[in-house]
Amino acid sequence: MGELATLYDLQQLELELDRLKKTLKELPVYSEFKKLQSEVADAKEAIGWTETKLNEQRKRIKRMEMDAEKVQQESKEVQAKLYSGAVRSSKELEQLESKGKALLREKDKAEETLLLAMEAYEELETAITTAKNNHNAINQKLRELQQQGNKEIKGLKDRIQHCQAARDQLREQIGSVLLESYGEMRPRFHGRPLARVVAGICGGCRVSISSNLTNRLCNPEAVVTCENCGRMLVPS
Ligand SMILES: [Zn+2]
Repeated sequence: MGELATLYDLQQLELELDRLKKTLKELPVYSEFKKLQSEVADAKEAIGWTETKLNEQRKRIKRMEMDAEKVQQESKEVQAKLYSGAVRSSKELEQLESKGKALLREKDKAEETLLLAMEAYEELETAITTAKNNHNAINQKLRELQQQGNKEIKGLKDRIQHCQAARDQLREQIGSVLLESYGEMRPRFHGRPLARVVAGICGGCRVSISSNLTNRLCNPEAVVTCENCGRMLVPS
């Protein structure tokens, strides 16, 4: 294989390398991972928030229970006094009766609010279970994505390594002068300073090659550049 043909292979290999590196850098898994990470953080926060509410509710219920007990005790005492026969004055009896009624109403109300508070507590317990399940599910998804991402990254890195080894081998077969001009021209032609000539046309700019250049291309040692675009021409 002529030096130019080898250089053309090198160009194609380096283009593939650039593509692989770009793919590795822009893997969608990175942004998906970031998104899931923030979802996991949100889910964890939701658990913490619900747990705080649950604790508050627990304390509230405890206070309510104590209050209810107090009212109940008080009500019992009033009822006992009422039926003990110790109160003789009708006015005092009337007052005691109305106090007893008020206390009974208060007791009923306290029991009712306590019941509602307990229902709210149960709802919060359910909410915690849901939040925990949600957190676990997202975490699981994150772990799966991590595994899949690591696999993708490893696959790409292996391919890059393989290409780099092949590139080094090719470079050893090409003279330093030619390599140097290829290196200098590479940025200007976006990685494609070499063009194949197919059916008398430059593969880089699609312009016909003059007969003079075509003749010079017959010499495998000659480095011929396209008169139109300036790329090094490789006979096919
Ligand atoms: Zn050209």
